Amino acid sequence: MSRYMSPRFDGLEAYIPGEQPQDMQYVKLNTNESPFPPSPAVLAAVNAAEAEQLNRYPDPESGTLRKKLSAVYGVRSENVFLANGSDELLSFAFFAFCDENRPVAFPNISYGFYPVYANLYRIPYTEIPLREGFVLDPADYCGLGKNIVIANPNAPTGRAIPVSAIEEIIRTNPDHVVLIDEAYIDFGAESCLPLIQQYDNLLVCQTFSKFRSLAGGRLGFALASEGLISDLERIKYSTNSYNINRLTAAAAMATLDSSEYYMENRQKIQANRAYTTAALDELGFETIPSLTNFIFTRCPKVEGETLYQALKARGVLVRHWNKAEISNWLRVTIGTREQMDIFLDHVREILKEAG
Ligand SMILES: *Cc1c(COP(=O)(O)O)cnc(C)c1O
Repeated sequence: MSRYMSPRFDGLEAYIPGEQPQDMQYVKLNTNESPFPPSPAVLAAVNAAEAEQLNRYPDPESGTLRKKLSAVYGVRSENVFLANGSDELLSFAFFAFCDENRPVAFPNISYGFYPVYANLYRIPYTEIPLREGFVLDPADYCGLGKNIVIANPNAPTGRAIPVSAIEEIIRTNPDHVVLIDEAYIDFGAESCLPLIQQYDNLLVCQTFSKFRSLAGGRLGFALASEGLISDLERIKYSTNSYNINRLTAAAAMATLDSSEYYMENRQKIQANRAYTTAALDELGFETIPSLTNFIFTRCPKVEGETLYQALKARGVLVRHWNKAEISNWLRVTIGTREQMDIFLDHVREILKEAG
């Protein structure tokens, strides 16, 4: 920190994103991106004609895209908010709904950005421990009397809770916002989106980064009651009115026209997830049942850090955290069948060398 930075950031620990190495070609299974490129329609949409208009600011309301998204999800445009990645959306939500007197709670093992935003905005927060086997007990959140953030399915565990459990949490915390981060919802879990018609304290967050192969485009969106959406708008127009750039908006429009392509990709990911889990089972790994495009797994013989480093030395990147409760676990993104075979071959060799 230079001597010019405000001392209010003295203790701030920034989020550490997964490695995005620019030096060599890794088999990249560390940040839950899609292994598949955007659909051909997206590549066609991000064209010279679109680039030619980059001298002009984009539509601050992203009206066309919001309209299309609202049609896809069966809601009204007033129920949709767009952000520069769901990370920006989360940032706006923490900023808008939480403060010194409006604390927030989330699971102790979940998306690492939640405590970072809480610290950034000086929001008191509680990390509620998951139960045995990384199971979230909804009872821990019912009638809590705080704002609540839950990733469903959860990252990095891959586990999901049913919509009925989420409804109970929303219903018993009517004076607080319940944010459900559905970054991985398209890989098999059930969305709680229909509940926004009934509960004005529910904020559903989704992203184009995972299932829709658009991590580099940066587009996240919220679905919620008109009230919560207009609160987020207020923060957006006080921060950056043009948070969705023209090329991303064009790519997103084409993405929504290519649902068949993305459904096929989902099937491949689900098949590769089952394939990889079965192969790891055979090697004696313990793997948490996943409804996402990653698996959370533990090797019986080799420690998490050691296995992570050995894989990296062999050109395979997975995610590992130096956090006591999960230090023996690795999060492995599901890639193509070829990528998973390379990963598995290296795991077998590393285990053999370990004896
Ligand atoms: C990947 C991820 C995000 C962030 O997604 P972006 O839209 O790329 O910012 C948010 N929440 C969870 C749980 C994630 O895994």
